[in-house]
Amino acid sequence: GKVLATGANGYIAIWVVKALLEQGYSVRGTVRSESKGTHLKERFKSYGDKLEVVVVEDITKEGAFDEAVKGVDVVEHMASPFHFNAEDPNELITPAVAGTSGVLQSALLHGKDVKRIVVLASTAAILETNRSAPVVFTEDDWNNHAIQQVETKGKDASPADKYQASKTLAEKAAWAFYEQHKNEVKWDLVVLNPPFVFGPVLHAVDSPESLNTSAKEWYYNVVKGRLDQEALANSGSSYVDVRDLAEAHVLAIRKEEASGNRIIISAGAFKWQDWVNASRLVAPELPPGNTSYKREKAVHQRSYDNSKAAKLLQLPYRTLEATAADCIADFKQKGWL
Ligand code: NDP
Repeated sequence: GKVLATGANGYIAIWVVKALLEQGYSVRGTVRSESKGTHLKERFKSYGDKLEVVVVEDITKEGAFDEAVKGVDVVEHMASPFHFNAEDPNELITPAVAGTSGVLQSALLHGKDVKRIVVLASTAAILETNRSAPVVFTEDDWNNHAIQQVETKGKDASPADKYQASKTLAEKAAWAFYEQHKNEVKWDLVVLNPPFVFGPVLHAVDSPESLNTSAKEWYYNVVKGRLDQEALANSGSSYVDVRDLAEAHVLAIRKEEASGNRIIISAGAFKWQDWVNASRLVAPELPPGNTSYKREKAVHQRSYDNSKAAKLLQLPYRTLEATAADCIADFKQKGWL
């Protein structure tokens, strides 16, 4: 089959493209400009015409994906901004929502071969920071709090709330569109909700400063020792390895049972010191961080129930140690460590 992968040059998407090509799919990847497709084409040139790269300059324009959806069996929508530098929340919300609705609209009108659409959402669309902790979130939870924050505070909302609102509104738009049109279309919808995504970097990056948000956070916190002792032991989140998330994107196509589900893709919770300790197993020269931290005593204020993914996708996860070792090897190979 042929898969349309939007935002194919991104950190996560290029791993999805790799997994798809390796498992025999043809891929049509979209990028915003010709030059952003160069690395992608070079990296997978051994696949010949099984990879096609097309330019979709502005995903917010009506009909932006009309040509791109023609002749594809599956759409994996991954293009969406992930950063914490937006002044106006609409810098994030507009491309997130219009990009998602736009690709579904194009599939409705022009994707006559499309059987499934997979949307890369986030646990940002699930967690609510105002919930009393500790809390284990499930697929029944929606981050309405971030939307309210942005509605009431606008530009003064926190950077995290702005990003989280963009992801929540985009996912809500996807489900609303599907509900409205499910009797007219031959495709169904699957949504994947990962927390922080870490792991080696395959996309084009010149320097650590220009890394994508999640890999950058990991690099500076773990390799560059940016966090203080308190933060290393007490602050963290949940994560999944980028290669496991890529595999989830393939399984989301393959597994009939995934139909109509939003699915949390999380390997588990971490504190930043866990990554420091795991990395020092292979790079003992790294700063030791908080040496009194005890992993078994760590309390995770927010975590995610990943049992739905286990049931529907049977997705195996790499260990935190394996992800750390591969990140370190990758950064060493790039000369960043
Ligand atoms: P990247 O920044 O590496 O990739 C983002 C992709 O989206 C790029 O292809 C980028 O294109 C494209 N994009 C960004 N803004 C726009 C825009 N305004 N219009 C069109 N295209 C745009 O990040 P990730 O790979 O990490 O993120 C991909 C997806 O995964 C996002 O939807 C993100 O919300 C989600 N996600 C990421 C997590 C993480 O920890 N990394 C966690 C959970 C979800 P260009 O290169 O041209 O800017």
